[in-house]
Amino acid sequence: MPGLRWSVRLIWCAAMSVGFVGCVRAKPKPAPVPEAPRSKELVASEPSAACAACAEQAASNEVIRALAQRVSDLKARGGDCQAYASVLEGSLAARRIVVRPYMWRVGTQLASAQATSTGEIDVARDVDALNVGRRSLDEVVHSVEHEAAHIAFAIPSGTGWNELLVDERVGGCRRTGL
Ligand SMILES: [Zn+2]
Repeated sequence: MPGLRWSVRLIWCAAMSVGFVGCVRAKPKPAPVPEAPRSKELVASEPSAACAACAEQAASNEVIRALAQRVSDLKARGGDCQAYASVLEGSLAARRIVVRPYMWRVGTQLASAQATSTGEIDVARDVDALNVGRRSLDEVVHSVEHEAAHIAFAIPSGTGWNELLVDERVGGCRRTGL
């Protein structure tokens, strides 16, 4: 039911009509930052003019692999972490996580991540096509975790308090030394 899905999708992030996008984890950085080390596999498939799509696919695979690792870690932590790990796990298994190369337009806003209550999560690998908004792999993973937490705890996005609540829960599950 595409119509229903779309209306559900609007609940989370796309509903922003004012201000910056609610679920943006990576803010465009003022100056280029050094790129995070990239996997050999990804470097090996850097865009040759012939195969930009292959590079996109490799970048997407890298994110999906990193997310799968996070699921194990989050489950081991239990509690809230396990709760949103289950959402992540389900979305991964159903191939409902889509890694887009850059941010995309939602109405008048640009989104870097977006989720539906049905477990579909879209995330931008990088912020823009000019390479000033490169996101580290961890930033992308963090962004997906944020969306999964919205779903797991049924917290709509859009208000500062809700975003704070989601950030707190995800932050607690990302702290080391627990
Ligand atoms: Zn959010």
